[in-house]
Amino acid sequence: MRPERVIVVDWSAAGRPRTGKGSIWIAQAAGQSLETENPATRHAAEARLAERIAAALAAGEQLLVGVDFGFGYPAGFARRVTGQADAPALWDWLATALHDGPDNANDHRALAARLNAMWPGDGPFWGNPGSLDHPGLPRTRPELPAGLADFRATEIVARAGAGRAKSPWQLAGAGAVGAQMLTGLPMLSRLRRRFGAALAVWPFDAADAPVVMAEVYPAMLRAEVAAAQGEGEQRDAVEVRLMALALAGLSARGGLAPLFAPDAPREVLAEEGWILGAGHETALRAALPAGVDPPRLRDDCFAMPQGVDWVPVDDALARLRADLRPVTGVQDVPLAQAAGRVLAADVTARRSNPPAPNSAVDGYGFAHAAIGTGPQRLPLVAGRAVAGQPFAGAVPAGAAIRILTGAILPAGVDTVVLEEDTARDGAAIVFDGPLKQGANTRKAGEDVASGARALPRGHRLRPPDLALLTALGVAQVPVYRRLAVAVLSTGDELVAQPGAPAAPHRIYDANRPMLLSLAARWGYAPVDLGHVRDNPGAIAAALDRGAAEADVILTSGGASAGDEDHVSRLLRDGGTLSSWRIAMKPGRPLALALWNGVPVVGLPGNPVAAFVCAFVFARPALSMLAGAGWQAPQGFQVPAAFAKVKKPGRREYLRARLDAEGRAEVFASEGSGRISGLSWATGLVELPDEGGAVAPGDMVRFLPYGGFDLG
Ligand code: AMP
Ligand code: MG
Repeated sequence: MRPERVIVVDWSAAGRPRTGKGSIWIAQAAGQSLETENPATRHAAEARLAERIAAALAAGEQLLVGVDFGFGYPAGFARRVTGQADAPALWDWLATALHDGPDNANDHRALAARLNAMWPGDGPFWGNPGSLDHPGLPRTRPELPAGLADFRATEIVARAGAGRAKSPWQLAGAGAVGAQMLTGLPMLSRLRRRFGAALAVWPFDAADAPVVMAEVYPAMLRAEVAAAQGEGEQRDAVEVRLMALALAGLSARGGLAPLFAPDAPREVLAEEGWILGAGHETALRAALPAGVDPPRLRDDCFAMPQGVDWVPVDDALARLRADLRPVTGVQDVPLAQAAGRVLAADVTARRSNPPAPNSAVDGYGFAHAAIGTGPQRLPLVAGRAVAGQPFAGAVPAGAAIRILTGAILPAGVDTVVLEEDTARDGAAIVFDGPLKQGANTRKAGEDVASGARALPRGHRLRPPDLALLTALGVAQVPVYRRLAVAVLSTGDELVAQPGAPAAPHRIYDANRPMLLSLAARWGYAPVDLGHVRDNPGAIAAALDRGAAEADVILTSGGASAGDEDHVSRLLRDGGTLSSWRIAMKPGRPLALALWNGVPVVGLPGNPVAAFVCAFVFARPALSMLAGAGWQAPQGFQVPAAFAKVKKPGRREYLRARLDAEGRAEVFASEGSGRISGLSWATGLVELPDEGGAVAPGDMVRFLPYGGFDLG
C-alpha cells in the first residue's frame, strides 16, 4: 500500500479522563501537514479515529493507522480463551468482556484476573499499581503457564532493534503495555465490524483495503524523539508525531512494502501479529524529514557488504572505524582525578610556562649590553635572586648579581654566566667574553605561551600531561564521561565463581575477569553482567541490563553459528547483527550489533581468541566510543627467534615475547585453548595476511602488551 495519510495513536489505559502525560495522543501526517490531538478518553479517541477513517474513505484516500499496542498475544493464548488460534476472534471476545465507560472507568484488572483463572496456577497476567491487592492478579511476575512465552516473535525482533518492549502480560510498571492491550483490542473489534471490507487490520487481514490498521512501536525512534523533544513537550506526543512522519515519508517514496512482508511463519502472524517496521528501524529513521537529528550511532553500523565471506582484518577495522561515534557526555573534573580520562575539548594554557624569564643555571646575571669580548670584571650587587625569592631591586648596567636556577631575572638582567665559568675577585666576578645575549636564561612562555593550545580534544591524559596542565595553571578539564563497558559471559558449561566446586564437564569463566580488567586498564568503568546460561531469555535480559547500564557490551561465547550460539541468534533476530567471519587466527567469529541502540561486540568464547579479538577490535572500538579516536596497536619490527610456514589468506597473531637478544620467540603451541601461552607472552607477533615462510632472523612485527596499556 502507498497511503497518502498516516495516523499514529499512542493508547492509554487511564482509569479517568486524562490529557498530557500518560494519556492518548493521535498524530496525523499527510503531505506537508501534521496535526496532533490529545483526546481525554478512549471513547473520544475512538470516535475521532472513526471520523478520520470515514473522512479518508469519503475522500477516496488511502489511510494507514498505526496503534502502539500489541494486536496479538504470544502463541497459545487466543486458542485457550476463544477456542481459535486467531487474534480477531480474541478481540471480539474482549470487546464483550471489558466494561469501559465514557469516563474511562473500566474493569481491565478484573478481566485479567478472569483470564488468569482459565489457566491452572497463577495464569499469565500480572502487575497491579493500586494499593489494594486484586484477587487473581499477582503483583509480580508469576511462573508463566506451560506453553506461554513472555514475548511474541515480533517483540524479540523489536527489542533487539531499538526498544525495550515489555511483555503483554505485564499490566503495570514503567513502559508496560498489557493494560493498553486489554482496553485497546476491543476497539479493533468494533472498528473492523463498523467499516467492514474498507478496513483491514494487518497482518490478520491482507493490507490491501483503503484503510489499514497496524501495530507500531514508536519507541523505535527513541534517539530521534529525544533529540526532537522540545522543552515541556510530552514524549508520547513527539513519538506519535515522528512515527507518523517516518511512515508517511516512507510511503511517499514507495518504501512501505518491505515492512508489510516480515520474515515470519503465517501461523505466527495470524495469532501473534507483527509490529509494523520491526527490523526496519533504519529505513524508518532514514524516512524522517531533514531537521530531525540522527542518532549518534548508525544502526546499520558494522554492516558488511552482502556475500562477503571472509573479511580481512583491515577491512573489518576500517568499517568499525567509520561507523562508530563517541557516545558519551561531557563533565568537568579536577586534574587530580583526570588521569586516564579523555579530553572533550582543547585545553589552552591559562598562564605561560615559564611564567616569567628566569635563569636556567646557577651563576651570575647582568645586562648583556655592558659586556664585550675578552676578560670581564663585574662588581656584585648585594643580595641574590633565588627561585621563589625574587630580587626586588634593579641591577645597574655593568654590575652582576648572584642568581640560582629558576630565579626570575631581576630588572637589568638579560644574560647569565655559568658559575663554573667564573672566578671571584673580592666583591666582583671575572669571566671571559663574549657571551650570547640571553645565554643561560629561559624566556617567558618559551615552552608554552599563555592562551596557546596545550592539549587537543580526544587526548587521553597520562601522568606527564598532568604535569604540563598543572604548570599551565589549569585546575580542571572537560572530559568525556567515563565509558561504561559491560561484560557478559555465556555458556552452559561455565562456572561463574572462581574456585567454586566444578564437575569435570564444567569450566571456569576465565573470560569475564580478563575482560573486566582490560576495560578497567583502558580507563573505562567496567560493569559486570555476570554469566548466563545458553538461554535466549536470560541472554536478552542480561543484554537489556547491559544496555541500560553501559555504553557498550562485550560478550564472550555463543558468537558463531552453532546450535547453542544464542547470542548471535538473538542479535540476528533483531536484524542488526553483522556476524563477521574474520580472516584471522585465532578468533574468527566476531559478532557486532546494536541492542537497544547500544553496540555489542560478541567476542569468541575461547579465552585466547577472546583476548586477541579484544586487542585487535575491541580496544580501538572502545577508544573511538570514548572519544579518544581510533587507537591502533603499536608495534615494531624485531628479528624472529622462530621458524614458521604460514598459510595465505588470513592474519595470524602468535603469543610472543622478546628474548635476551631482543628477538621474538613464540609460544610452543598455537592451540587456541592454551591460556598459559597468553600469560607467558609479553605481546603478540602479527603475521601479515599473505602466506610465506618466516626463518629465524627475519624481521616480524611485535605488538607488546605494553602498547595496549598493559605494560
Ligand atoms: P563458544 O563460542 O560459546 O562456542 O565457545 C568456544 C569455546 O570457548 C568453548 O570451548 C567454550 O567452552 C569456551 N568458553 C566460552 N566462554 C568461556 C569463558 N568465559 N571462559 C572460558 N572458556 C570459555
Ligand atoms: Mg558457548
